Amino acid sequence: MIKIYNTLSRKKEIFKPIKSGEVKIYTCGPTVYYYAHIGNFRAYVFADILRRTLEMNDYDVKQVINLTDVGHLTSDQDEGEDKIEKEAKKENKTPKQIADFYTNAFFEDFKKLNIEKPEVVCKATEHVKEMIELIKNLEKKDYAYVGENGNVYFDTSKFKKYGELARLDLKELKAGARIKVDKKKKNPRDFVLWFVEKGSKYKEHILKWKSPWGEGWPGWHIECSAMSMKYLGETFDIHTGGEDHIPVHHTNEIAQSEGATGKKFVNYWLHTSFLQFNSEKMSKSKGGILRLEDLEKEGYSPMDLRYFYLSGHYRKPLNFTFTNLKNSKNSYERLKNIISALKKSGEKINNKNIDGAKKQFLEIINDDLNSPKALSFLWDILREEKLNDSEKYKLALEFDKILGLKLDEEEKINIPKEIKKLSNERETARKKKDFVTADKIREKINKLGYVLEDTGKGVEVKKR
Ligand code: AMP
Ligand code: ZN
Repeated sequence: MIKIYNTLSRKKEIFKPIKSGEVKIYTCGPTVYYYAHIGNFRAYVFADILRRTLEMNDYDVKQVINLTDVGHLTSDQDEGEDKIEKEAKKENKTPKQIADFYTNAFFEDFKKLNIEKPEVVCKATEHVKEMIELIKNLEKKDYAYVGENGNVYFDTSKFKKYGELARLDLKELKAGARIKVDKKKKNPRDFVLWFVEKGSKYKEHILKWKSPWGEGWPGWHIECSAMSMKYLGETFDIHTGGEDHIPVHHTNEIAQSEGATGKKFVNYWLHTSFLQFNSEKMSKSKGGILRLEDLEKEGYSPMDLRYFYLSGHYRKPLNFTFTNLKNSKNSYERLKNIISALKKSGEKINNKNIDGAKKQFLEIINDDLNSPKALSFLWDILREEKLNDSEKYKLALEFDKILGLKLDEEEKINIPKEIKKLSNERETARKKKDFVTADKIREKINKLGYVLEDTGKGVEVKKR
């Protein structure tokens, strides 16, 4: 039995799939105009824990992730320039070159973080036909209208349940107290389904398609409705994303999809809380971002970061500091050392001894994906006196099918820049036969926790 917290009901619910033994999941993917940061990856690692947990419970998982390569403007409120077009101009490239480059970078990090690749990866630009069909359907059902500027808007006042997911207070909005109503639309929350180039101040758009409303490009939200329903059906099981998507993007996805089909769109909405940095949500526009590569340069491995993510519950904010990351790195390395020692044991395994622990682990993770508790249970098992080393080893690897921490792999350690520099300086000193300086540098490297080993192939740096 799996229990998950559903944003729609604000309750932990027992998960019941639409079709027995199968789960269909849609994960909102990145806008590929720039590198994804470690805040974004918190959301994807969480979605990975979700799918691994479902797989462990014998579900056949079909997960779809989208790539937004058109339609996301610089403001989530349909204002500003298309993010991809803007970056293309800045870097003097085509939008496709930009999207391809950042898509590759995204999946490289995805792989390094040991995130299982979803069954379907789909691009907005390859699904414009489906989006136009959906908008035509909404227009037919009177949910869409053409504004003064020629853009097509979703009429939120027509969709009775609008804002249910985010518990929006629409009465307050109608009074017009908070949000100024754009003259071109009827209600403050109405959003664009289709942008028409003629009405836009951004001319010479490269990404544009013919449509019944004029040449232009889709709004941001419509892609997720069109692609999720194409690959997963009009009603599917689970939709994931970061909590910032609740009030606008996911609210609008529901309105579009349910408006068009008259059916419930998604049964369970799961949202990840933010990774915070300098006391704010990590984002490009706020306190700055860090990428996996930035951490690697400082000597942290992708698995150190994954361990750090797992140390917090996905529904609670996680505060990123280098001290916190360092603590995770230390724990992760200790864990790997213990497991590597257990591996050599070769004792006989009594399945009776391990079945109970396996069950207990599954119960922990099945209770709303409690990864911090799952990690501490793993530590408890490693300390358990009633289990022999081989049994502990087997259990650790079993748990790792969900944790995804590569506990059985010899990982190449990342040597910090500072250590590499010192090692090069020592080499230079040695070549000059300045052995006093060379020895001093070796000592300094030792104090910093690393050792140099002179091998036949040159010098190797290792952790002490
Ligand atoms: P975006 O490319 O901005 O659409 O973001 C991709 C995914 O990352 C979305 O699911 C966001 O909700 C999520 N996200 C963005 N910033 C953070 C953050 N600081 N912490 C956790 N998730 C985030
Ligand atoms: Zn989406």
